[in-house]
Amino acid sequence: MGEVAADEGVDGQNGRAQTDVVVIGAGPAGLFSVFQLGILNLKAHVIDILDRPGGQCAELYPEKPIYDIPGFPEVTGQELTDRLLKQAEPFEPVFHLQELVSHLDHLESGRYLIKTDMGTEIECGAIIVAAGGGSFTPKRPPIPHIEDYEDQSVHYAVRRMEMFRDKRLVVAGGGDSALDWTIHLAPIARSLTLVHRRPGFRAAPDSISKMEELVEAGDIEFHVANIKGLEGEHGRLDAVLLNNEERGDYKIDCDMLLPFYGLTMKMGPVASFGFTFDDDEKIPVDTEFFATDRPGIFAVGDIATYPGKLKLILSAFHEVALAARGCFKTIHPDVELKLGYTTSNKALQKKIGVA
Ligand SMILES: Cc1cc2nc3c(=O)[nH]c(=O)nc-3n(C[C@H](O)[C@H](O)[C@H](O)COP(=O)(O)OP(=O)(O)OC[C@H]3O[C@@H](n4cnc5c(N)ncnc54)[C@H](O)[C@@H]3O)c2cc1C
Repeated sequence: MGEVAADEGVDGQNGRAQTDVVVIGAGPAGLFSVFQLGILNLKAHVIDILDRPGGQCAELYPEKPIYDIPGFPEVTGQELTDRLLKQAEPFEPVFHLQELVSHLDHLESGRYLIKTDMGTEIECGAIIVAAGGGSFTPKRPPIPHIEDYEDQSVHYAVRRMEMFRDKRLVVAGGGDSALDWTIHLAPIARSLTLVHRRPGFRAAPDSISKMEELVEAGDIEFHVANIKGLEGEHGRLDAVLLNNEERGDYKIDCDMLLPFYGLTMKMGPVASFGFTFDDDEKIPVDTEFFATDRPGIFAVGDIATYPGKLKLILSAFHEVALAARGCFKTIHPDVELKLGYTTSNKALQKKIGVA
């Protein structure tokens, strides 16, 4: 779990966090929501299934330059994410990373209750759905009967490192996630074997060097091989069956397999939250406040659709500014909202922390 800021209060009676707005998704739309809500004095919790903020920008093209962000002739996906995080910082958002928003209930009080698959419960007055093309979901490797071992012995993410302490681990894959987790888990595992189908990696050079140092020091093993099957019973893994040119079929004993074969996007639980979706799995919105057909719930970014919609980051930024105002009107229906310029409005500058 990745909570990176202090919570602003947990209800003594039911142990639930209380906040103004829950933002589902930490892509560019979700991150800029925090800023726009913040200048309206609304606090936000942001939830994402990924282990880092940035959505598609951070996960799919962190090093690629984007050329159509106003004011930035060139900015990489990661740099844009970092800048959005910095801009959101004064408003102390609470991030819940590696958590899937799994339930949304409308309470009798009129507030909403959001639950995640990690047991987090948050009550809020309004919701911004910034879920993009859906939650990132790991690709399942084509290994026969792998599903029989999932959750018990096969894990596609590391949510709690302690689960892997003193275990015989096999990490599979050749990208950043496989190498990052190899490096982080090696010191606590009983043994760790990295398996990749070819000798080359698609990962940060620094991670490749660190992994090679671990191999040289004898702390981990690296096998160039294909995974052919799994051996074990009742969901408990005993060995992974490998094959390569040099050795043919062979096996290595193991308690847990961690395959990192990339991610796909699936709509997931958001599809069952009671919004109307169009045929393209997008949520039609009223563009005054980017409201969905559920009161107090707004949709922005790639998941929102309306006549003329452009699935671009710059459109998401505009949508977020209006959705934040929709949240404000939901939570404070009797308060008039005025437009302020950040260049000249001292109250806004105080909120941002520059005056
Ligand atoms: C290769 C590539 C290049 C691109 N280049 C450009 C470009 O040059 N210019 C441009 O404007 N756009 C570009 N785009 C598009 C741009 O990245 C998207 O428009 C933008 O990321 C949409 O932002 P978002 O916040 O709406 O959604 P996303 O970035 O998709 O973020 C949504 C987040 O919500 C999370 N989520 C969803 N459901 C749940 C749930 N139930 N629980 C927890 N978390 C959940 C997901 O894990 C994800 O992190 C590009 C896209 C790609 C793939």
